[in-house]
Amino acid sequence: MSKGLQGVTGIENLDLKNKRVFIRCDFNVPMENGNITDDTRITATWPTIDYALKQGADVILGSHLGRPKKSEDHKKFSLEPVAEYLRDKYGHEIILVDDPESDAPKALIAGLKKNQIIMLENLRFSAGEEKNSHEFAAQLSSYIDVYINDAFGASHRAHASVSELPRLMPIRGAGFLIQKELAMLDKLLESPRLPYWVIMGGAKVSDKIGVIEKLIDKVDGFIIGGAMAYTFLKAMGVEVGHSLVEREKIEFTGELIKRVKARGKKILLPIDHRVSQSIKSSEVITTPNEKIPDGFLGLDIGPQTEKLFCTELLSAKTVFWNGPMGVFENPKMCQGTFAIAKALSGLEADTIVGGGDTASAAKASGFADMLTHISTGGGASLEYLQGDPLPGIDSLRKGKRGE
Ligand code: AMP
Repeated sequence: MSKGLQGVTGIENLDLKNKRVFIRCDFNVPMENGNITDDTRITATWPTIDYALKQGADVILGSHLGRPKKSEDHKKFSLEPVAEYLRDKYGHEIILVDDPESDAPKALIAGLKKNQIIMLENLRFSAGEEKNSHEFAAQLSSYIDVYINDAFGASHRAHASVSELPRLMPIRGAGFLIQKELAMLDKLLESPRLPYWVIMGGAKVSDKIGVIEKLIDKVDGFIIGGAMAYTFLKAMGVEVGHSLVEREKIEFTGELIKRVKARGKKILLPIDHRVSQSIKSSEVITTPNEKIPDGFLGLDIGPQTEKLFCTELLSAKTVFWNGPMGVFENPKMCQGTFAIAKALSGLEADTIVGGGDTASAAKASGFADMLTHISTGGGASLEYLQGDPLPGIDSLRKGKRGE
């Protein structure tokens, strides 16, 4: 078992027969007009659900979806499309329970048939969920025997169904998805094959510097793209026009660059860019070098940078990638990101993608199937790698009960 799961029981080691088994899933899937546009998180957790069913458990599923703020949001953030998806794809009857705090779940579980699964409506509709409320968790615990967490993407949140509820349950464990996710991330921390490169991109430096700091001694080098790169370039005195820069992080970033170099590690930054006068514009030009003229902002790495990054990656044996190289959602600004995905797909290396936008970008590139692992949790994987405890894992450990 992975180091991150020490003290945690795997679902395969629990007796589930005739037990009421609650599985905290991460069904927080992207939707457009009520339709699921990416089912990865659902299919990734199905083996855990299927296993519990085959062991003879009565299965109760719980998840959040989006960030509902008021009751008018309930229709938009209902889990009904997920229930329908499970019904259509796996042939089980899904009984969606509107109010997990009512008596309905208890009554329904008592009469549950073999082919039926209970699904609680979006847990964030209950005020107690995001407050990590003991009362809400106690209510949920009153009708379950076994707690399983398989919601890796929500495990960095101290919310009631992830943190407080397992502490109340004597029998609790981790599902197969969480086990797989942590095994992959532990590989990056403990036994990466060398050379090991970390590719960072995306919008914000502040989200990622913790991981860079944590991994300095383990990697051969860092590749920095996306909007993050402009804070790095600015810290080195390069003109970046109107590109997104986190001014309050410039000094720290400058220090970080020095630290990386002092440890003898490489740090590669863009040497040219695809730029425009506005993020919405479709007129994109390529700069001849690393400087971005006034009035322009960098929106993607340029072709020379693609070559530089991809050539360096050729010998890599381990790569962790978090954050797109540009505004990949725009077809004129996706080349850099797609070039990285393509380069990784051709490597004989462990290639691990850290969830969220990078997972969507990898999928949009068409190369996702050729990568080793695409995490279902962007925020959770970054927090885990930078050494922060994950409340959803910590509360599964033995001796963590409030007894
Ligand atoms: P993150 O969640 O930090 O990984 O950021 C992902 C977002 O960063 C994506 O929506 C990208 O469109 C955005 N992004 C990447 N590069 C840039 C850039 N050069 N300027 C503005 N946004 C960017």
